[in-house]
Parts: sequence; structure tokens; C-alpha cells
Amino acid sequence: MESLAYKCPNCSADLKFNAKTQTFTCEYCSSSFTEAEMKQIAASQEQYAAQRPEEEIQTDQEFAEHTSVYSCDSCGASIMADDTTAATFCYYCHNPVILKGRVSGDFRPSYVLPFQIDRAAAVEHFRSWCKKRWFLPRNFLSEAQQEKITGLYVPFWVTDVDVNGEMDALGKKIRSWTSGSYRYTETREYALTRKAKIVLRGLPADGASHIDDELMEAVEPFDYRQVKPFAMQYLSGFFAEKYDMDMAAMFPRIQKRAVQASDTLLRGTMKNYTTVSVTRSDIKVMNTTWQYMLLPVWFMSYKYNGKIYEFALNGQSAKFVGNPPLNKPRVAWVSALIGLAAAAIAAGVGAFI
Ligand SMILES: [Zn+2]
Ligand SMILES: [Zn+2]
Repeated sequence: MESLAYKCPNCSADLKFNAKTQTFTCEYCSSSFTEAEMKQIAASQEQYAAQRPEEEIQTDQEFAEHTSVYSCDSCGASIMADDTTAATFCYYCHNPVILKGRVSGDFRPSYVLPFQIDRAAAVEHFRSWCKKRWFLPRNFLSEAQQEKITGLYVPFWVTDVDVNGEMDALGKKIRSWTSGSYRYTETREYALTRKAKIVLRGLPADGASHIDDELMEAVEPFDYRQVKPFAMQYLSGFFAEKYDMDMAAMFPRIQKRAVQASDTLLRGTMKNYTTVSVTRSDIKVMNTTWQYMLLPVWFMSYKYNGKIYEFALNGQSAKFVGNPPLNKPRVAWVSALIGLAAAAIAAGVGAFI
């Protein structure tokens, strides 16, 4: 008899049957499901698979045939580019990269937010930012450095999550009034029970461990209304970091946000009571649909005194972020000048007295 292995509905890894708990459990993302739950989920997944249009399968093939992956031995970055765009150096550490071959269709993004800012405009933004900063090292935006500015699509996971939520609580309505010389207090208690199927759409998290999370959060927001279904032409002339955080690695972050959001939603249905105390909150993520999206960033890194400084310009809104290296002798020199000026002013003031 053929046995069909169940796939984890949250991260797609193979599930194992746990005889002790009689559940199917995932070693990778720690989800677990009863047989009845698995059947229910499998039915909804089949429906989704049946809906997958023919052109999506074609885009998968086209992507696999025309996308190369380059890897950097120094810092571990994996860079994807289409056939018309060859990568020669690593956008992150500037060392040479090696062509590793093609990528599989699994790495084909579902959506892309196309670049709105072109290279010339990006360089101009960097330049005007530099003008306002006196303490940058002298060759900070040299011609050679400008060439290293890279149009980089950052991989993001955007998920739709199905949640089953159950919540029990004790609600109290308390009212008081005075009649004659008596004060009355009436407390009514209500046993509250909520059962809900919740669908959360568009929970995001970035999938590149390489790129500083804080830098990526700082360069947000992106306007997702301009997102397009992925097509090869958007990649042309740009690079994309290949994600290295897979679904199992990302799931705990998504799960935490989904549970928090569902808990808040359920509590929100228990209004109109003086007090509510939750006695049981059982919230479980039943199914996660992953969409892999590329977001546009003009990226520049700068090596100074053995340290890498990262700069990012939002490729949609031109928002700029990064911490510049300080040229210490220049800082000291300018401080000395300010000191001299202050002394001169003091001397001037002295002369008037
Ligand atoms: Zn899993
Ligand atoms: Zn590198």
C-alpha cells in the first residue's frame, strides 16, 4: 500500500506521526495537528493547488532557465541576476563573486515592487546626502565607490495565515445605585466563549539573514499597492539577494504575530462588560500561504578601518538610511576650528567691555 507523507501546512516540511500524542508533528517549525485537522487542511490545500494558473507554472520555468546565481566566498551572499546582467563583485563586501549556476523555480518570487528610482537619481540622492556631512572620509563617494552602488531587490516573505481561535472568559457587569439610605451594587457574571476562524492577510518578514534587519525596517515603508506579479523583465539590470531564511526558519516570527493579532481580535469582541478576565486562550495557526516578494533598495556598503558600513535608499520612495563612518582626524580638526572660533568670539566680547 502506498503511504502518502503529510506536508506541514505551515512550512512544507514532512510531518512525522507521534504515537504518544496521536498527532502529526513538524520537527522544523514545531506545529502539530490531529488527523481530523490534517484532513480538513488537505482539502483546502487541494483547492488552492487546483486554482494555480498555467501562466504561473510557465513563469517558474522561465525563471529557472534564465536566472543565474552568484556566490561570494568571503561573506556568503548569494546574488541572483538574469541572463542580461552579470555580477562581477559582491554588493555587500566588494569581493569577486563566482557563478554557481541556475536557481530552481522554487526561488521564483511571486511578486515584485518595481524600482521607481533609477541609478542616476540614486547616485544624486547619495551625493546630496554626503554634501551635508562634513565628517565623511574623503573618498566616501569616489567614482569607484559610486560604481558599487547596487540596485538590489531584497527578498521578503508575505504570508496569509488561517487561524483557529478559541477563548473563554468571565465577563462582569457591575452597576450601583442609591435608594433611600441604602447603596446597592449589582454584579452580573457572564461566561463568555468565542470560537473563530480568522484569516490574516499580508503579514511580512524579510528573508535575508545577511542584510541588517534594523536597516531594512528603517528603510520602510513600501507602498504595496504598486506590487506586480513577478515577471523576468523587472529583474533586468538589477540584482536580487537569494533568500536564506526558509519557511521553517521564518514561521516562528509569523506565528507570534498571528497569535498576537488573533488574541487582540478575540478580546475585541468582548466589549460592553465592566471587567473581562480571560480564563483560556487557545489560538492555533492552521495553514500558512507564503508569498515571496522582492522589494527595491539601492544599496551601498563602505569599508572603513576594517568595518563595513551599510547604506540603503528606498528604491520606491527615496528614503535614505545609514550610519556614516566618521573620519576621526577630520572631526578633531573641525572641533579645533570651532574651539578657535569660540575663543575669538570670547576675545571680541572681552574687547568691548
Ligand atoms: Zn512545519
Ligand atoms: Zn560578499
